[in-house]
Amino acid sequence: MSSLEALKRIDFVHDEPVNELSQEICDIPELQHLSQVEIPSPLKDPVSDDALAHRDFDASSFWQVIPAFAKVSREEFLDHRFQVKNSAKSIEQLKTLIAPLVSPEFLQDVENGLERAPMNLRFSPYLLSLVDWKNPYDDPIRIQFIPVASRLLPDHPKLSFDSLHEQDDAPVPNLVHRYYDKALFLPLDVCPVYCRFCTRSYSIGPEAAHGKLASFRASPKEWQQAFAYLASRPEIEDVVISGGDTYNLSASRIRLIGETLLAIPHIRRLRFASKGPAVMPMKILTDTDWSQALIDIVDMGRQRGKEVALHTHFNSVNEITDITREAMEHLFKNGVTVRNQSVLIRGVNDDPEAMVNLVRQLSYMNVQPYYVYQHDMVKGVEEMRTRVSTSLEIERAVRGSTAGFNTPTFVTDVPGGGGKRDVHSYDYYDEITGVSVYRSPAVDEEKVYLYFDPIELLPEEGQRRWADSSQHDAIVREAVEAAGLSHLTLA
Ligand SMILES: *Cc1c(COP(=O)(O)O)cnc(C)c1O
Ligand code: SF4
Repeated sequence: MSSLEALKRIDFVHDEPVNELSQEICDIPELQHLSQVEIPSPLKDPVSDDALAHRDFDASSFWQVIPAFAKVSREEFLDHRFQVKNSAKSIEQLKTLIAPLVSPEFLQDVENGLERAPMNLRFSPYLLSLVDWKNPYDDPIRIQFIPVASRLLPDHPKLSFDSLHEQDDAPVPNLVHRYYDKALFLPLDVCPVYCRFCTRSYSIGPEAAHGKLASFRASPKEWQQAFAYLASRPEIEDVVISGGDTYNLSASRIRLIGETLLAIPHIRRLRFASKGPAVMPMKILTDTDWSQALIDIVDMGRQRGKEVALHTHFNSVNEITDITREAMEHLFKNGVTVRNQSVLIRGVNDDPEAMVNLVRQLSYMNVQPYYVYQHDMVKGVEEMRTRVSTSLEIERAVRGSTAGFNTPTFVTDVPGGGGKRDVHSYDYYDEITGVSVYRSPAVDEEKVYLYFDPIELLPEEGQRRWADSSQHDAIVREAVEAAGLSHLTLA
């Protein structure tokens, strides 16, 4: 038992504080002398087990509830090749895996959902095993990866394809240079899973699925221009390596990218971005070529006085198990800093308790909660978005609930290419029409950027106004005027 688990046992029986140390604590050699000390009366209420639930990690063979995995051993399930090979990549494969667990109506709903909101399907056995298939409609993992037609809502009228306008800031196809000293390198366009809410749906996945705007090959030859551009811009100190997802780069390519970028004198910070730890954590433990490549690049950076970190993307505690804890511990012990960027998603983490739990559990694993994003305005996922006011409310609950350095900043990546804005920093927010108005002087001083809350969460008056398309221009104009920014150009 670890010393933290033992501390948890400083418990309270029948709600009466017990002013003595548990046997576990007393058995720890370094703490034995404390058993002689009289313990002062506590000033705090007793701690319930619920409040410490973030310290529990599922160490069971949870995947065996899926009939197809019933006989899969722990060793096999932890093999990253098993995860890749058995990921559901088509509706047929998904149906075969879950048909014994769900109703035919649900399966039909999924099929219709995929028809109406076309996306690439890729769903790992790890995630599939963590969905509560008895109640798939409300399951935080199902919501993120599998559309169901009965829950889809019409897109917001102000939504546009590639709402972040990343292609406008791309000097070469796989590089986005929007901010002064940092750049986003997109070396590939595949991921270990496909998320419904992906901002880069303009570029992610096989061509056939939808009208793709851009395509990024995982080929070192195609990266030369991006490397040359980065080397030619002395102001760039910070490179995010994203994609797609760096989980899908081979170990040798992780090394090639890391070594090349670290050799550029003005580049001081690298971040490898991957949703992998949240969707296939075992790869870190069993694809040792890959994890060692990352660890070696982190070491190489440190030797040169440069920081290399892993940025990941957990959205709910349901994605976290004892496998995750073990994987994060492996990285931590080997000196890899891991930070987390969540997206605020309706039904997944849009209540204060869910977010506080997530933040605490990540912190417990030494994964630093970095950002919580307001959901981007993306096609076909309107039922996943929340209001800006929800973000504000959750931020209030989270700040103060744990260490400040583990407290995420809540941001909106504003449509139109304004980049990330602190969600609180709007110049005006109309709670009736759901329009928030932002400026982003570091990106463009002359522009004003708008974010739009999902219409069906607005008060009735707001819904009524959006229902009448002749009102749309007036809604926008009023908000910009109220912000006192009519002299700026709408992004
Ligand atoms: C998010 C992002 C970055 C990194 O921004 P941080 O706020 O430093 O995490 C860099 N470039 C682009 C285009 C981005 O969207
Ligand atoms: S893993 Fe990241 S890039 Fe890939 S689909 Fe999900 S959100 Fe998009």
